[in-house]
This record gives sequence, structure tokens and C-alpha cells, in this order.
Amino acid sequence: MNQPSTATAQPLDQAREILQHSFGYDAFRPPQDRIIEHLIGGGDALVLMPTGGGKSLCYQIPAMVRNGTGIVISPLIALMQDQVSALQQLGIRAACLNSTLSLESAREVESQLLAGELDLLYVAPERLLTPRMLDLLTRSQIALFAIDEAHCVSQWGHDFRPEYIQLSQLHEQFPDIPRIALTATADEPTRQEIIERLALDEAARFIAGFDRPNIRYRIHENDGNARQRLLRFIRDEHPGEAGIVYCLSRKRVDEVAAWLRTQYIEALPYHAGLDKETRALHQTRFLREEGVVIVATIAFGMGIDKPDVRFVAHLNLPKSIEAYYQETGRAGRDGLPADAWMVYGLQDVILLRQMQASSEADETHKRLERHKLDAMLSLCETTECRRQALLGYFADPLDQPCGNCDTCLEPPQQWDATVSAQKALSCVHRTGQRFGVNYLVDVLLGKENERIRQFGHHQVSTFGIGEEHSAGEWRTLYRQLIARSLLAVDLDGYGGLHLTEASRSVLRGETPLMLRKRRKPEKRSKSQSRREGRVPAAYRALWDALRELRRELAEAQGVPAYIIFHDATLMEMAERQPQTKDALATVSGVGDRKLEAYGEQFLHLLQTFEQTNADPIQDTVEETLQLLKQGLSAREIAQQRELTEATVYNHLARGIETGRLSLDDTLTLSEEQLNTLRFTFEQFGGDGRIKPVYEALEGAYDYGLLRCVQAHLNLESTGSG
Ligand code: ADP
Ligand code: ZN
Repeated sequence: MNQPSTATAQPLDQAREILQHSFGYDAFRPPQDRIIEHLIGGGDALVLMPTGGGKSLCYQIPAMVRNGTGIVISPLIALMQDQVSALQQLGIRAACLNSTLSLESAREVESQLLAGELDLLYVAPERLLTPRMLDLLTRSQIALFAIDEAHCVSQWGHDFRPEYIQLSQLHEQFPDIPRIALTATADEPTRQEIIERLALDEAARFIAGFDRPNIRYRIHENDGNARQRLLRFIRDEHPGEAGIVYCLSRKRVDEVAAWLRTQYIEALPYHAGLDKETRALHQTRFLREEGVVIVATIAFGMGIDKPDVRFVAHLNLPKSIEAYYQETGRAGRDGLPADAWMVYGLQDVILLRQMQASSEADETHKRLERHKLDAMLSLCETTECRRQALLGYFADPLDQPCGNCDTCLEPPQQWDATVSAQKALSCVHRTGQRFGVNYLVDVLLGKENERIRQFGHHQVSTFGIGEEHSAGEWRTLYRQLIARSLLAVDLDGYGGLHLTEASRSVLRGETPLMLRKRRKPEKRSKSQSRREGRVPAAYRALWDALRELRRELAEAQGVPAYIIFHDATLMEMAERQPQTKDALATVSGVGDRKLEAYGEQFLHLLQTFEQTNADPIQDTVEETLQLLKQGLSAREIAQQRELTEATVYNHLARGIETGRLSLDDTLTLSEEQLNTLRFTFEQFGGDGRIKPVYEALEGAYDYGLLRCVQAHLNLESTGSG
């Protein structure tokens, strides 16, 4: 049923048809259209797109357009069932084969495959290359192979899966079937490795921009109260919303999760030290329930395609920009505003420097690791736009500062730290290059404690020469010096510091040093307005009601809520408040199948909600009416307010219904036209639906206009117009 009916249509037209009717989306996001066209034409493709960019459609739609079944290789068997359910909700014939299936169910899926009854089949890599599976594949019609999370083939990355190496066999065994490899991992060595190992040198490459404009990047200094700041961040900005908190160690994960629970935040730990059942349970709860916060080591997250993760918080510094980008990328896949929030401090810098120095990798590898950590640290210490720094690293430059990161929103100040840095460095020198930061700060501040006296350091020339700064400021300065490799960390694990080649020129005063000033913790009010910005007060109540309905529907079927409708879809419903099935069908994310399955219940809610609540969207309607009074046309209002024209017409109709506006204010219609319309509504519009009227008029008037006329006629017939 998903194969388009017109055999002569262009492949891309068929693809668009599926996009609109099965998925309920208006248009492709470039380069989706080019990738899909290429694949339908039988070509191989390598796709690099950021998380949330829309990779799945790139193979799902060609699999439906081409004859046969699309085979999707994914390493994440725990998530396959959800992916399959999501597709089934759209009326797409999907199934999976993995070790969690009973023998009986597996046989059932196999016979569906052989009978050509599947559009998509998800398979774990280790299963794909078994003789049984290969035999099955040779006897079935295959539309394409999609290799998801293709960076798992890279031995350098931390997601390496040995089974992926074998996937080059696909090319040898099925040379005529197109293959598409997809990843969100960006760096060039990994890219090369994918091409080599999967024999994709002939494949077309599609590299989408890396920007994730809806993510707000914020990096704060840890001044010893990271947990409290995290709590405040969640409470102020994301109460009741889903998020991921990353920590470096398992112990810290357990600790932070437990503590957040004492603060009434639904936080669950996730790391490799927990048993399999607990991990699976926590992952499932995160996916199914709303507002669960997962506290995890980096073991968590790959392939989690939960679209409504509203924040990713780091309580530790990631090892590289790639890791940071990948982890933060799990926020806001649905395109709605999301936060990438991090605190990092001196301890992180020391720890990572130490880990790296003691790494047992060979020299080249070590140099690469050092380079990556340096880049990460300079992202943290930058006074420029974070997004520009981030995208610059991926060679995808951004011309203007983004306006949606902490340095853009509250530009940090710089100060000339040359003299202070000289004091800090010479204190390291005078005390023999073996003490840690706390000791050095005590010496600078002239604290005469036992230990200092024991070493005789109350007599060195740097003793007490640093009273112009607080201990916290000195710690920050030391952190910045280590971050810039002006100081190195000893290997022994005690955090002792020694000078480097680069520190000499600062000590000699040859290189002035400009540093980022310490910043006070953010104020509450500023951040709070952010959540309010996302769900306007005018329809918060309706939004909650829609979410509640979605939750009930999801629970009844045992699927995650987002599989019913994404947040973005509910948000559009709340904003536009469609009152008819036709109008509901135009909401993004409402395809044919979901309209059939859930349309009535959502419509009922939207219709009745209006009656029981004064007028939840009064503010937004009012704004439209004001602009109309100022002489703007519906189109201009739509542009100015970044709404769809249909929404603006809905507002105008509402204005007419409630008598705040007359039809004449809104539209210019001749008496004759109005009579025709009145007649047509009487004939065809009896049940309140617009579609039959629209069709009877053969499309001569658009829906928005008809909606306004309908409002006017309703008012007329109730005698008050
Ligand atoms: P990725 O796998 O690249 O991380 P997904 O395939 O999960 O991204 O897509 C991210 C989100 O964007 C999903 O919610 C998906 O439904 C949505 N999406 C993808 N393509 C489109 C499109 N053309 N129009 C609207 N939404 C889209
Ligand atoms: Zn910025």
C-alpha cells in the first residue's frame, strides 16, 4: 500500500508523495532529496549529517520506492524495536531480526522477507553475515543496504564494532544493490576509514553542514558547586523534561543520580558497571516516560533517537570536540530549542592532561590525542562565539557569531594576565616544579602553614606576592595556563606541575597573555525566560492536555510517547488549534495513517478545549489582529510573525467568530462572490467541514479565506452578525 500508485511518476515525485502521506512532512531538508534520488537510481552513498539532521529518511524512503526490502544494519538492538514501532505507526511494513527475538518470531519475519512483504528490515551486524542470513538474502529481493552508525567500523573511535569490518562482504556478494553508509561523526580520518573498510570509494558523498542552530551551547567554570548548578539549571530551565547528564566515572554517575533523586528529579544512572537488566530498564524508562533524566558515562547514548531530549549536561570535560559534539548532538533532534550545558574546572583539565600523558598509544596517536584535547580546551577558554569555534573545527565555518551561545549572549571580558601569569609560573619554578595547584596558591597568598614551612617555601621570593587575586582566581589562572600548555601535569598522578618550553617566553615577558575573565554564575531570571519562550503561556494549558492525551495513547500501546506524535507536532497543534480533520492533516508530522488512528481524539480535545478554557490563544490572535489593523496583509503578518499563512487565517477567523473583526476588515470580496460562497456553504458545508466547499469551488478560493467566510456565516446564522 505504500508503493505509489502511478507507475510513471518520477522517482522523486514518488518519494515526495511518501514524505507527505506516510510521514506527514511538507518538504525534504536538503540534501535529503539528492541522496534519495541518488539511491533510488541505484548509486552508493556516504552520508555525513549531524544528529537530528534527518538521516533515516534517506534510506527509508528509497527502500519504499525501490522494489524489495531495504536492509538496515544497526548496532543497537535494544533500540530496533522502537524504530520498527515508529515505522509501523506510519503504516510502513517494518520488522527486525536480532537476538532478542524468539525463534518463532524470527521465522515469521524471515518468511515475510522472502514473500516480499517488508519495506524495511533492521538486522544486527553479527546476524547479517551468518550463512543462514546470507542465504536468505540471496533468495529475497533487496532494495538497498543501509549501514547506520557507520563510524563503528573505525578502530580508532570509541564505538568500534569488530562485526562492522566484515560488512565489506556485502559489496562482494551483492554488487548490484545500492549501499548507503550513514554517520554523524565528522572527522576526516574516520571518514577515510569508513570509505576504505566498507569499499565505498565509488560512493557519492553527501556532507551536510554541521550546525545545529536549535542547540544553545553554554560552558561554565566549575567553582566547586557543579551539582548545585546542575540542579538549578534543571529546575529553572527544564523541569519535567528529558535530559542526559554525562559524568566521567561510574562512581560519580551513581552519586549524582542518587543526589538528584533526593531533590525530586527523576534521575536514573546508566553505566557499564550496572547489570544488563538495570541498564535496559533505565534506557526504556528514559525512552518511554516523559521527563526522565539519565545520568551516564559515555557508554550511553549512541543511536538513542529520542527526539525530545531537551538538554545534555556535562559535569566533566569530554576528551575531544568530536566527542562533545556527538554527545551534545543528542539534544533537540526535533528541532525545538535545546541546551548543551557544561561545567568544567581545574580538576578536569589536570585529569585529562594526565590521562593523555600516560597513554600507552604510539607517538602519532598520542600527538593526535593531544591535539584533540587542546582543541577542546580552547573551545572552553574562548572569548569568541562557541558555535563559530565548534564549526570552524569541523571546517564548516560560520560567518557571523551565532547569537545562541553563552559568549554571544553574555560576552566575556578579557584581561591582560601577563604579570599574574609570570607570578604563577615563577612560583612553580621557585618551589621546585613538583607541587599541585592548591599548594602553589597557598604560597602565592602567603599562607604560613605547616607544610609550607616544612619545605621552607615561606622564604621563597614568590611567597605572598599574589594578594591581588583570590584563591579562586588563582585556580582559574592555573587552569588556563594548563589548558594552554604553559604548564604540564606530572605523570605520577598527584597533580604536580612543571614548566614547559612555551612557559619560558611568558616568563621572559615576550608573549603578552590575554585571558578570559572569570564569570559570576548566571542569574536566574535570564535563563528562566527561556522555557517560557518555548511554550508560550497562551497555550501552555492546551499543550499539557495534548501531552497527556499522547501519554495515554502511548501507554496503551506500550510505545514511547514520541512515536505517537513528536513534541514539534503537538506544539504546532497547540499553536494553530486545527478544528477540522483537513486542518489537522496539514500539521507537520501528521500523515495519513496517524490521522486515521489518532485524528479524532486529538480533534475532540482541540475542539472541546476551546470551550472549557476562555481562549487560550487569545494573545497570539490579538497580536495578529493588531497587525491587521496596522494595514498588513495576511501574508505579511505571517512573514513578520514567522507563522504559516494558514495560522494567520485561523487567527483572523477567530477574530471574526468572536466579533472583534468583520469580514470586510479582513478580505475584499464582492457582493456577488460572497453570495456564491454563501450558497456553496449552504449546499456543501453542512457538517462544518471546509473540504467539500473547497472542492465544489474547484479550488478557486483557498482554505484560509474559506475559513474566514465560514466564521462570518456562522455568526450570521446565529443572528449576532
Ligand atoms: P538523524 O538520524 O540524522 O539523527 P532522524 O532521521 O532521526 O535524524 O531525524 C531527526 C528528526 O527530524 C526526526 O524527528 C525526523 O522525523 C525529522 N525529520 C527528518 N526529515 C524531515 C523533513 N524533511 N521534514 C520534517 N522533519 C523531518
Ligand atoms: Zn555564538
